[in-house]
Amino acid sequence: VARRRAEWIADNGPCIDCLSREGLEVDHADASTKVTHRIWSWSKARRDAELAKCVVRCNSCHKKKTVAERPRGEDNPASKLRTADVLMIRASALTLRALADQLDADYTLVWQVRTRRIWQHI
Ligand SMILES: [Zn+2]
Repeated sequence: VARRRAEWIADNGPCIDCLSREGLEVDHADASTKVTHRIWSWSKARRDAELAKCVVRCNSCHKKKTVAERPRGEDNPASKLRTADVLMIRASALTLRALADQLDADYTLVWQVRTRRIWQHI
């Protein structure tokens, strides 16, 4: 299994973004088409079908791509705030505590929004 993976990477590398030959990984070019990354024990036909959707990236470029593709702001299903909340937090003269109470949100979350540690794209 390890040898199959190493051979596929060797045949399809280097990193598609930076041409590095270090820390290479298999990356689904379009994450939405990914079935699983546990493909190396599959039959060759099944494996090849999954690998046809993949490229080689170094771990650094792979991480950058993953972060860039993460849904931001209210497009992220885990988001506790809406864009309107963020704009209000930044524009409001209320204290962070009062805003947290008003939004039923954590104080730390409100502080992170106001100080632009998060929601930086807004
Ligand atoms: Zn790279």
